[in-house]
Amino acid sequence: MSLSTTIKTPNVTYEQPLGLFINNEFVKGVEGKTFETINPTDEKVITAVHEATEQDVDIAVKAARTAFEGDWHNVTPSNRGRMLTKLADLFERDIEILASIEALDNGKTVTMAKGDVGAAAGCLRYYGGWADKITGQTIDTNTETLTYTRHEPVGVCGQIIPWNFPILMWAWKIGPAIAAGNTVIIKTAEQTPLSGLYAAKLIVEAGFPPGVINVISGFGRTAGAAISSHMDIDKVAFTGSTLVGRMILQAAAKSNLKKVTLELGGKSPNIVFDDADIDNAISWSNFGIFFNHGQCCCAGSRLLVQEGIYDKFIQRFKERAAKNQLGNPFHENTFQGPQVSQLQFDRIMEYIDHGKKEGATVAVGGERHGTEGYFIQPTVFTDVTPDMKIAQEEIFGPVVAVTKFKDEAEAIKIGNSTSYGLAAAVHTKNVNTAIRVSNALKAGTVWINNYNMISYQAPFGGFKESGLGRELGSYALENYTQVKTVHYRLGDALF
Ligand code: NAD
Repeated sequence: MSLSTTIKTPNVTYEQPLGLFINNEFVKGVEGKTFETINPTDEKVITAVHEATEQDVDIAVKAARTAFEGDWHNVTPSNRGRMLTKLADLFERDIEILASIEALDNGKTVTMAKGDVGAAAGCLRYYGGWADKITGQTIDTNTETLTYTRHEPVGVCGQIIPWNFPILMWAWKIGPAIAAGNTVIIKTAEQTPLSGLYAAKLIVEAGFPPGVINVISGFGRTAGAAISSHMDIDKVAFTGSTLVGRMILQAAAKSNLKKVTLELGGKSPNIVFDDADIDNAISWSNFGIFFNHGQCCCAGSRLLVQEGIYDKFIQRFKERAAKNQLGNPFHENTFQGPQVSQLQFDRIMEYIDHGKKEGATVAVGGERHGTEGYFIQPTVFTDVTPDMKIAQEEIFGPVVAVTKFKDEAEAIKIGNSTSYGLAAAVHTKNVNTAIRVSNALKAGTVWINNYNMISYQAPFGGFKESGLGRELGSYALENYTQVKTVHYRLGDALF
């Protein structure tokens, strides 16, 4: 199979790389394997890409190690920053192509995909700015010693990303690692390999030396597992399911104790108090769960509504949800495209069936949409009790579980009643309620009177089983540096 192909989308025709990107070149996998990627809108094969297996991971790690110990080490922090900034510019130049790839391969709407590409460029540029501002301290220990710290790169980083935000997760995993002077091998998700490979092409144009960023396509149980258990990878960053997060932590412990950061699942409570601005709360609650077809780790999948406003709110929320436009992701007015894969479609439909059997009421949706593509109607379950499976487990689709609550104490209790702690939201006009409740919620992010607003300048990550460590902002740099303390003796020998 060749190393590139021409792909025609409704918006653009472009040349799609298909190989593994190692040492700044697209190559075939050692075992010569390939796998197909499917368009979730029509269930047809888009193309096949070359597949990395354990040996390819090994080759990519060697390339990343050679670069790390060699030339990359001598590139000044300012020049690292310049390359990241150039990469951000190239993302913006090719925004139509990258957004079209996302719509084709993932099924998200082009409009939303453009937002992802813009945010990915912003993230790369932000970390480009950090590259020459990573500093240690000088520490006053005694008059005869100069003590200082250096924030050195960790080394070779293995980055494993999911399919829900392919290009955005790519940037989140590349930006801070490169700014801090590491080298990277990144494995894209098997459902959505195309945008990461296109971005790999831009790496050469941005001026990165060979081996600094390596991009491979492959499966979790082979290539992903090879990364998490590799003896020469110093750090692994993972975004995906809590189940796989546990496996990665175990593999790291059993191999070389590589550092691990994890962004995992969520079952985030979105709490609406009686005194909320109802129009605002409906709009954000709709966006909170149905944005990206519910395929967000931080989706507001549990909607908790106070009893005084409940009937009015639910009536209007149902009307709003039923209005969300489903359809072709390339059409301008589409809000919701298909789920990413047959497997995800089946998982979500199983949860919907389960919710019906558990005794929750389907207030809106609850069925497949159309006959072609992995489309699911926006689904609102009411009469959900906190112990139901649909209120406890991550569904990762356009399905929201609505529960009524009496007062603030009950909202907090229900809000904190899952094993997850990624995000939460509070809708109220009362500042004291907003602050009190956000302090009491066990979540890494709390939105007040909004939802899903994430900025690359501010940290993002989970409490409890939603993860380890923080991505984004200056906080992320701590994951990608290790601190060295140097004691320089100025005076005579002590002994
Ligand atoms: P997943 O966790 O299996 O896949 C995410 C990434 O991990 C992919 O790149 C995959 O190849 C890799 N992977 C899988 N098994 C691995 C292993 N043993 N070792 C190393 N890497 C491995 O997720 P999925 O099966 O695609 O989706 C299942 C569920 O995960 C979803 O329904 C959703 O609940 C959750 N999910 C969460 C996120 C998130 O953003 N937190 C993203 C995707 C999926």
